[in-house]
Amino acid sequence: MSQNPTPGQPSATAPPSLDAVVIGAGFGGMYALHCLRELGLSVRVFDDAVSVGGTWSWNRYPGARVDFPGGPFYCYTFSEDLVREWDWTETQPDQPSVLAYLNFVADRLDLRRDIQLQTRVTAAQYDEAAQRWTIQTSTGDRVSAQFLLCAVGTLSAANRPDIPGLDSFAGECFHTGHWPQHKVDFAGKRVGIIGTGSSGVQAIPVIARSSAHLTVFQRTPQYAIPAGNRPLDPAFVRQIRDIWPQIRRQMVQSPFGAPFVPSTCSALDDTPQQRQALYEKHWQKGGLGIAFDTYHDILFNADANRTLADFVCAKIRRIVRDPVIAEKLMPDYLIGTKRLILDEGYYETFNRDNVSLVDLREDPIEAVTPTGVRTRGGEHPLDMLILATGYDAITGALQNLNPRGRGGLTLKEAWAERFSTYLGMAIRGFPNLFMIHGPQTPSVLFNMPLGAELEAEWIRDCIGYLREHRLGAIEPAPGVEAAWGEEVAEVASHTLFPLTDSWYTGANIPGKHRQFAVHLGGSQYFQRLSDVAARGYEGFQVEPESVAVSAQRT
Ligand code: NAP
Repeated sequence: MSQNPTPGQPSATAPPSLDAVVIGAGFGGMYALHCLRELGLSVRVFDDAVSVGGTWSWNRYPGARVDFPGGPFYCYTFSEDLVREWDWTETQPDQPSVLAYLNFVADRLDLRRDIQLQTRVTAAQYDEAAQRWTIQTSTGDRVSAQFLLCAVGTLSAANRPDIPGLDSFAGECFHTGHWPQHKVDFAGKRVGIIGTGSSGVQAIPVIARSSAHLTVFQRTPQYAIPAGNRPLDPAFVRQIRDIWPQIRRQMVQSPFGAPFVPSTCSALDDTPQQRQALYEKHWQKGGLGIAFDTYHDILFNADANRTLADFVCAKIRRIVRDPVIAEKLMPDYLIGTKRLILDEGYYETFNRDNVSLVDLREDPIEAVTPTGVRTRGGEHPLDMLILATGYDAITGALQNLNPRGRGGLTLKEAWAERFSTYLGMAIRGFPNLFMIHGPQTPSVLFNMPLGAELEAEWIRDCIGYLREHRLGAIEPAPGVEAAWGEEVAEVASHTLFPLTDSWYTGANIPGKHRQFAVHLGGSQYFQRLSDVAARGYEGFQVEPESVAVSAQRT
């Protein structure tokens, strides 16, 4: 289609020209590259990491595993060949397996020749006259591209807590989301971990088994459900592969992108004995089904929610031998309204002699010192400190990228009060910029590889439409973002999610504005995307091709 000079060759005059730049080489960015190649576009992918894989490259902490219905459903779904060629071995694949899978896909689809790793995009600026983005990187590249695709990850901007003295700690200190490449040795060490979200809960049992002593600093007690990880039955995998198109259709049409038919029963229609039996069956099996396959109203009705919360609390009391510790571990929010956690022996870990729990609600952290953590109750000497303190989720990485749109307006300025998008895919004032798993998409509450595929395919088709109609720029029309924001808030308001402080609402980052960041419509959202496309990209405004874009295409 357009000229395809060698990218990454800085020029004193015009930067090398591409059709598209993709930022991020995780599930979304890799598939976006594949899709845009189908259109014949010249594309370059930049990623800061040392390998492809996005979140699965960064999150190398011990215990990291898929928490969604995993193998063989958490993968690229578009190609039956890929589904047949990769053998998942466990129901909840671990981080090395997912990373190996993504490397396999990068080779199988010949993606690497257009992916530049260890390269952070440091600036992106839109030129209105040229209808193009200029992108600069940490390695000195300066390229120009008509389209900018941000596949920067929903959980990639690490939250390093503002604790006095943190930088003074003299031992090893790691954030779970920026885990080092080298093997981390816990043997004989006194390890402290701050944070008990999914990352902390996955890491804690593993670290407890291999360290001299583990101190868990907990602010909010969490509900954790047994992951039930087990080897995949080859006969089951064969069966799934044989009907893959049907399985994919089922996933696309389901609320969370999983191949299960959601329950239509209310938790309040069953007797306590019936509920107990059903919850127990799912607890023994493990996985998120306990919240999603049992009753339809767990996330919609506080009384229904309480029945499951009480069941899990009773489990904690039964598992944890010391009743004082058990009470400290007792969650008190609506179950499932923070990300439901899958664990492998989390509560049991607190029965170990080498594990202690510090309840930060009654004994808050005062400072990190060179030799440990000082809480109001005293000093906790440590050799290693792990920050499992989460992320500036969904919007953080985009704001760190901080592209400059029309009139030089930065994204931080545009989103200073609230973030706004149209369909979670595009932002007014930032023409030709698309997001994958952006704010106000189903992202983290849908099967993420599948959601990324559906969004990348929509972007491919949209760019194809622009090219076909000789249009040079596209962005949301006036007013559509406000309406979209209202729709996202309206869908969320029918659920219990907004009632809890969580990273879905922005409440985990001090000073971040509160705004629900996920479209909870699941499959309805993706139907909406298709409808918008079918109506000629309804809600978007377009511009004819500029001379620069026309020249680029000839
Ligand atoms: P998170 O859920 O946000 O948990 C962060 C933890 O750090 C919370 O316990 C939080 O306490 C605590 N914390 C934060 N700042 C603190 C401070 N200044 N002092 C003390 N405690 C502090 O982060 P995460 O565990 O990394 O998980 C984030 C998301 O990533 C998950 O919800 C999940 O969607 C995804 N994830 C997925 C997997 C998987 O698929 N297997 C694994 C890991 C993560 P509060 O609750 O009181 O704020």
